[in-house]
Amino acid sequence: MKVTQAGEHDMAIDVICDVCGMSTRDGEGEPQYGTMHASWGEGSTYCGEEYELHLCESCFFSQVAEMKRARWLAVMFDEEGDAILVDDAYGRVTKSAKEGGGEPC
Ligand SMILES: [Zn+2]
Repeated sequence: MKVTQAGEHDMAIDVICDVCGMSTRDGEGEPQYGTMHASWGEGSTYCGEEYELHLCESCFFSQVAEMKRARWLAVMFDEEGDAILVDDAYGRVTKSAKEGGGEPC
């Protein structure tokens, strides 16, 4: 949940994790959070509804681990089953700086 300050542009001053309810701001830095977003269209049960949830780093990766576990349960006896459990990049779309991608944080 974005916490905004009333003004010309309703600037976000903090982002509260929708799972644990804690601020995603660590000290003076920018809020660090992951976003789960959905915008359901025609043919969906939820047609016209839009969702946006914000997760702190800890809750985000807990959710990723739960998704991996759910995916693994669906294919645990298939060839790809164990590969899912050891996939440290599950859902990741860019490499980390230490792996040769992006700028170091
Ligand atoms: Zn959290």
